Amino acid sequence: MEFGSHTKSHTILTQVTPERVEAELRDSKQTLEEALKKRVCLLSYPNGNHDQLVVEMTREAGYIAAFSCLPGINYSCDERYAFRRKHLTEYYSLGLRGEFSEAFFAVDLCDIRERIRLLRSLMERQRRKASDPANGLEVTVTRSTPQARGEE
Ligand SMILES: [Zn+2]
Repeated sequence: MEFGSHTKSHTILTQVTPERVEAELRDSKQTLEEALKKRVCLLSYPNGNHDQLVVEMTREAGYIAAFSCLPGINYSCDERYAFRRKHLTEYYSLGLRGEFSEAFFAVDLCDIRERIRLLRSLMERQRRKASDPANGLEVTVTRSTPQARGEE
């Protein structure tokens, strides 16, 4: 199990001064590290809110990765200061009777809906690319006749 920081006071980091961001990131990290007696290097942005400055300050504070609440799938570590992640609340994965549904939760965790959306988007892109005349896949055949060439 890995413990990560969520800032000291759940401050929305994009709405406060850089000095406050720095303190929130530093103090939370220090408190956890002292209590756990181990390094804390992951951060979850409160409400997922982050911008370029917050990302830079997170890196400078010694975190190696951070989590947003952006939907979708992480395909690489390129965006490791804005990993996509599911934001769960008590109203998440409600079944037909309005109660928590393990089945709906399993479907949501598998990101099946997101994968279908991505697949549709990829298929649409492929379809558009295939029908693009500039792509060279459509060939126009013109017959060259002696008259067209100016011959008789
Ligand atoms: Zn939170």
